[in-house]
Amino acid sequence: MPSLPASPLTILRTTFGYDSFRLEQERAIATVLRGEDAFVLMPTGGGKSLCYQIPALCMEGLTVVVSPLIALMKDQVDALRLNGIEAAYLNSTLDEYEQRLLVSRLRSGAIKILYVAPERLVSERFLTFLGTLHPVLFAIDEAHCISQWGHDFRPEYRELARLKQLFPSVPLIALTATADEQTRRDIGQQLAIPPENTFVSSFNRANIRYFVEPKREAYRRVVEHLRQRKGQSGIIYTLSRASAEALANSLKTDGFSALPYHAGLERETRTKHQDLFLKDEVEIICATIAFGMGIDKSNVRFVIHYDLPKNIESYYQETGRAGRDGVESDAILLYSAGDVMKMRKMVAIEDNPEQTRILVRKLQEMANYAESRTCRREYLLRYFGETFQKSAEGCGTCDVCLNPATPVEMYDATVLAQKFFSAMIRTGERFGAGYIIEVLRGNNEKVRLEHLNLKTFGTGADMSAAQWRDVAQALVRESWCDREDGEYPILKLNERSKAVLYNGAQVMLAKKQAPVRTSRQERRQTGAPHTPVGYDNALFERLRTLRRTIAEREGVAPFMVLSDATLMQLATYLPLTTDDIRRVSGFGEVKTERYGTTFVQEIRTFAEDNNLSSQMHLTPSRRERMPSAERTVQSGTFQGDTYQETLRLWQEGKRIADIASVRLMAVSTISGHILRFVVSGAIPLHDFVSTEKEDRIIQALRDGDWREGQPIKPIKDTLGEAYSYDEIKAVIGVYPR
Ligand code: ADP
Ligand code: ZN
Repeated sequence: MPSLPASPLTILRTTFGYDSFRLEQERAIATVLRGEDAFVLMPTGGGKSLCYQIPALCMEGLTVVVSPLIALMKDQVDALRLNGIEAAYLNSTLDEYEQRLLVSRLRSGAIKILYVAPERLVSERFLTFLGTLHPVLFAIDEAHCISQWGHDFRPEYRELARLKQLFPSVPLIALTATADEQTRRDIGQQLAIPPENTFVSSFNRANIRYFVEPKREAYRRVVEHLRQRKGQSGIIYTLSRASAEALANSLKTDGFSALPYHAGLERETRTKHQDLFLKDEVEIICATIAFGMGIDKSNVRFVIHYDLPKNIESYYQETGRAGRDGVESDAILLYSAGDVMKMRKMVAIEDNPEQTRILVRKLQEMANYAESRTCRREYLLRYFGETFQKSAEGCGTCDVCLNPATPVEMYDATVLAQKFFSAMIRTGERFGAGYIIEVLRGNNEKVRLEHLNLKTFGTGADMSAAQWRDVAQALVRESWCDREDGEYPILKLNERSKAVLYNGAQVMLAKKQAPVRTSRQERRQTGAPHTPVGYDNALFERLRTLRRTIAEREGVAPFMVLSDATLMQLATYLPLTTDDIRRVSGFGEVKTERYGTTFVQEIRTFAEDNNLSSQMHLTPSRRERMPSAERTVQSGTFQGDTYQETLRLWQEGKRIADIASVRLMAVSTISGHILRFVVSGAIPLHDFVSTEKEDRIIQALRDGDWREGQPIKPIKDTLGEAYSYDEIKAVIGVYPR
């Protein structure tokens, strides 16, 4: 059935279930649909994917998406299929048979969107094959990989410029979340995209709060943060595999749900850990920065950098993995100047002084960010060439703005410093601050026998240990003495300490400032506008559980079924009918068909049990319902009422034979209806074909070397009576998946 080209807005609403375009999506889409090339710069979570997915659905023919993130491809394809879109991927994870099957499906035109790894795409064989498919659009994701000025240069991306020579009339859209001015120019030039077709959205991630904290007692700090975020998903980035591993272990010991993820793990283990994280079965992932984690889990609520990232681009990209769903999330960086020194060696590239200079400069910029006392948001946006208009009170969502440096009050700490330093000398400069403080406080249980008779023993007993700790920290911070790096932070005297002890130098220290505000109460006040306030937490948790059950059944991650943002809306507005639920952002046609009833039932039960009524009248925007004719054309799958009626009965729990008898129709007809819904994604495959059957069918297809277009009878004969044609067709329809 020929489908009319639908407008981008119609597709946004019916297929994806969103109200309106974000940022520069609309202009980028229009450009591509005019047949011109476009370059899209948008922060992570901004919505880059729709910039090529929507044009792909507006046009007849194949869209090819190049992405270096192989790990992400399956997820992207799964997510598209959940919205009823035919998509597939081609990368090294497919075996030969799967590849051949894919090729035949591509030939038959069954696939709208194909994700390909760059090295596959640029192979001569694939390019020749591609020529026969007449692609209508190329999308180059992570386009910064094309530039050696970027932080993530990949040589095989260089070859992508060839696409322009081979397919001069096919529009190309390049997308990236991270590019400084130089990288941007380079990408534009290499792909010959006209400057007026460059769409730069604001990089501001309004729902992310930025914090930089001193990296002292780092583990304790992390634990504190995690305690405040029980039940939430988060990533902790570390520099080395060993520390990712160690951190995950300590956290596990301390009762947190945490797993490591780094390149040193067996591939299988890595995949398993990532999977558990995606599926909300483990809360925290401790990952190395070196290993670019290809995840687009939308409900990551916090990202902690345990070690310093190598550059602001990486930092922004990594922190950007928080809150893709638009819900308030936190980015916390633990910073120590010592990390900068360590990293300096790590970023150097042997025999490439030029590249090394670039990378060291980028590292220095990262350190400057951490040390700066200007608004974090302002700093970051300036780095990406943007001016951030903050109010007089600042952005309200970074540590600097939340904690304005009150005029610092100083006090004379000379005598305290003298006491402290002489305790250091008399114990041989072999201890850390903790022990020195025990000596000063005269704690004869903690202090070694040989130190009990020291002149300084107990001379600081008039101050609490906490007060002394502040003094010690300030002395180190202001370089009145040195602290050695390493496992045991031993304090050493330096020139300045000696000046205090022997030359009467005066020590002025700042009085301690108020700690960063992070309590729940205060968070609410600064809450980003994106979070629907006042959602019912108990209902949210129940919906989360329901979502998890559905995701398990369908073998996908929960956030793909529905985002946290969507669940929060449900828990705020309590839609009690499927028509209501259709108006909630994130419920497109297919998802409404698929999950609408289930969620409505859950919400109804909850509302009845708790005596609550629907709040749908409070929804901010009421999405116009599509006229039904347009809907039918759009989704291209639901042909009129006879199909709908079958679907409705199926969703009530009736099986094929029941439906056939209720509707006075042949079993084969009903089965045919169901088959369509399975292939379009409205009914999960496993509701129709058991996993065991699926496996056997796939085996039979492989053994028979079946190809698209060939008769199914031989396969059916192999499988025998227990298998119906429709079951085989259903598996073929969604395979490889
Ligand atoms: P990016 O690739 O830029 O990091 P994605 O394309 O993954 O971001 O989009 C992030 C999230 O925002 C996804 O869950 C996506 O469905 C959602 N999204 C994209 N565009 C819109 C829109 N116009 N309205 C609402 N949600 C959107
Ligand atoms: Zn700020």
